Amino acid sequence: MNYPKYAVLLGAAAVLTAFSGCGEKAPAQTSAERDVFAMDTFMTMKAYGSGAETALEEAQQRIKQLEDELSVTSEDSDIFRINNAGGEAVEVSADAVTLIGSGVSYWNETSGALEISVYPVLAEWGFTTGNYKIPEPERLKALLANVDSGKIEVNGSSVRIPEGSKIDLGALAKGYTGDEIMDICRENGVTSAIISLGGNVQTLGKKPDGSEWRVAVKDPFAPDTNMCVLSVSDRAVVTSGNYERYFTGDDGRDYWHIIDPKDGYPADNGLVSVTVIGESGLRCDALSTALFVAGTDAAESYLREHTDVDAVLVTDDDRLLYTVGIADKLDNISGKSAEVIARD
Ligand code: ADP
Ligand code: MG
Repeated sequence: MNYPKYAVLLGAAAVLTAFSGCGEKAPAQTSAERDVFAMDTFMTMKAYGSGAETALEEAQQRIKQLEDELSVTSEDSDIFRINNAGGEAVEVSADAVTLIGSGVSYWNETSGALEISVYPVLAEWGFTTGNYKIPEPERLKALLANVDSGKIEVNGSSVRIPEGSKIDLGALAKGYTGDEIMDICRENGVTSAIISLGGNVQTLGKKPDGSEWRVAVKDPFAPDTNMCVLSVSDRAVVTSGNYERYFTGDDGRDYWHIIDPKDGYPADNGLVSVTVIGESGLRCDALSTALFVAGTDAAESYLREHTDVDAVLVTDDDRLLYTVGIADKLDNISGKSAEVIARD
């Protein structure tokens, strides 16, 4: 896959530098830092403690392994083999089983908003190659006939999808990868770390000086500007936005890479950015995409019912909505009006 995404990714790296403690009094302990380009994403990792160097070396290897297993384009990957098996069952890695199973659960949980088999539709729009075009409505209709996570079968370590279907874990893989990196850090005795995998930031513990990490969230209407800063520890902060990958069609309208599986068009249900904050990177990643698709009303009611995660939403009329659980951790540095999503 090939995306003109680098400016945004470098922006994310800059956020890390600005908020992860550089320039402050140097803590008297070792630290390690690594930049990796994988999964079409510029990744930065910083860890503190005597095990930091080993942790990040192992993390880099694990990222490579996950990319090899989960890439939709490389011919040896589990996903490529599933997509090209002509409807037959395929033996795959434990990681692929976990992620596909999780994709199907979130499809259930979000009434079909998260749909890992939407890939052929995404490809028709050109998001997989960069050769963008607005598809014919008839073509979208035909492709949508094969989009149905209900037909994905996972049996032990084997996965089968119907002929004509194709899956892609782009909405989930970076969150899962972040969780794996956090585990590797913990196993190596690291108690303080921050990583950024594109729009996904994950933090372990607090900053070495004992304060919380400060993670900036971009303004979807001005992606070079930060809209708010969240103070967090031991949390993933994952954003899905309509500004991350998009093209302007011949009709002058913008079309983005998060697709509404109901009609095959870019999801346009009232939200332009969704940030989910929680303990699990995988859950936050799945939900940032799914709630973006579900739209303002459905996202608000999901968030009222599921109090293990917090979220910051931006509506297409430029309002900022956030859950009550993050209220005292959110610094709104934009001029936007902000409303709390209450939970009673
Ligand atoms: P990003 O990968 O840009 O950080 P997301 O986590 O929101 O953002 O994932 C978007 C990716 O998920 C798209 O690039 C595409 O591969 C895939 N995708 C698009 N629409 C859906 C959908 N409705 N359900 C699941 N995956 C989707
Ligand atoms: Mg996602």
